[in-house]
Amino acid sequence: MKLYPLFADLADRAVLVVGGGAVAERKTAALVEAGARVTVGSPTLSPLLAQWAQAGRIVHIAGSFQAHWLDHAWLVIAATDDEALHQRIVELAAARRLFCNVVDDAARCSFHVPAVIDRAPLTIAISSGGDAPMFARLLRERLETLLDHSLGALATLAARLRKRIRLRHPEPAARRRFYEQLFAGPVADLVRRGRPEAAQAEAERLLASVDASSRGSVVLVGAGPGDPGLLTLRALRAMNEADVILHDRLVSDEVLALARRDAERIEVAKEAGHHHTTQDGIHALMLEHARAGRRVVRLKGGDPFVFGRGGEELEFLRAHDIPYEVVPGITAAVACAAYAGIPLTHRDRAQSVRLLTAHCKASHDTLDWPALARERQTLAVYMGVSQLEAFQQRLLAHGRAASTPFALVENGSRPEQRVVTGTLGQLARRAVEQAVQSPALLILGEVAALAESLAWFGAPPVGERGQGIPPRRASVSFGASVDTLAAIHHA
Ligand code: SAH
Repeated sequence: MKLYPLFADLADRAVLVVGGGAVAERKTAALVEAGARVTVGSPTLSPLLAQWAQAGRIVHIAGSFQAHWLDHAWLVIAATDDEALHQRIVELAAARRLFCNVVDDAARCSFHVPAVIDRAPLTIAISSGGDAPMFARLLRERLETLLDHSLGALATLAARLRKRIRLRHPEPAARRRFYEQLFAGPVADLVRRGRPEAAQAEAERLLASVDASSRGSVVLVGAGPGDPGLLTLRALRAMNEADVILHDRLVSDEVLALARRDAERIEVAKEAGHHHTTQDGIHALMLEHARAGRRVVRLKGGDPFVFGRGGEELEFLRAHDIPYEVVPGITAAVACAAYAGIPLTHRDRAQSVRLLTAHCKASHDTLDWPALARERQTLAVYMGVSQLEAFQQRLLAHGRAASTPFALVENGSRPEQRVVTGTLGQLARRAVEQAVQSPALLILGEVAALAESLAWFGAPPVGERGQGIPPRRASVSFGASVDTLAAIHHA
């Protein structure tokens, strides 16, 4: 059921509750709390409801339901144990375009009452659309413990200062940062410790201070290889605080989906055949947005300092006096190795790993080939697939054995991951045969042979004699949580 969430102002509006038992009592209490003028229609009342009627907090109509009770009501709640009566109320309410809630009967409701966490003036409402009310309640309990009770007081303080904050920080990005400081910094601390006057004073001080944080900044963030589960918590936080995200094409949609929704996203593709932004263009964009006081996240595939030109970007930022931070990411070599079941080092097979790039002919000329050709070391090669032939020839010429195993990992860690294995003598031919596409990482060395036996993710590796045994994938924790959800629902 797809519902439209709504917070209704019921102050001084007439609401009808049909039924006088314990459930009616609960619903009535919440309505009275919201300032509604509640009429309870029922032959009898619970002791508490009777007390409220006597005190004039509610109006009681004694007797069996009559259609005219609905006149003038804005909402109606049916809370009896008579299903036929509920059906009648539902129909009469619909004819009058009245929203009607039938307790414990989601299908008949035209509005639902959510589970609520009250931190006035903040209200958090949770609905499962009537499908899993128990789950909504559990979630509410969890949020209750998570959300400090001082939150309401803090929101009240912020509300009092709202106009002045707006005047002081007319620019939305700077204003957002001010609120972040208010909610996370010493002001929030003082409120939590029950010192409202000190909190107010601290907030005043913050408002008057020449605010260094209204300066823009850049966070260089490694987005990992594609699987959003491989993002760091710090990366997630930066993406949630960003005003602008400048991302490479390699950053997956699943990762981008986790960023703050109203952050501006700009793709700065550098690969041939795509919309092209030069490195200078990227520098100019970072500068423009940071100087406008925005928080820029420069989001890169893998790790920003591994073949990511992160160094150049920092040099540029330093030269222009823009504050920056760096959040490391899981680089393609580490991710592809893990997701292909290839340990990069191994007591018997490899004592060292080298990360190298061989994107073009020129980069080949600067590599130390005799060193690369030594055995019992792993080469993790970030490269364009078109360079494989030249790479193979050079390594063979410098004496690496043609029988050295390799694994080419295409789209590592993503659902469409493919692993092609073989030996150095056939490297380029195998890549062409299997039409390996970018992004792909080459892992060359004795360890690569382990892909055959240790694969666990995605399709089995494709070896020289065809596809290997299907990987034995562990049951994924997500499955477990879905089961838990179902169990709760049926509880
Ligand atoms: N900074 C990135 C590397 C950028 S260079 C990092 O740390 O991973 C781009 C190269 O990385 C690609 O040509 C490819 O060789 C490799 N690469 C990046 N993501 C990959 C992935 N999901 N699977 C395989 N290779 C990948």
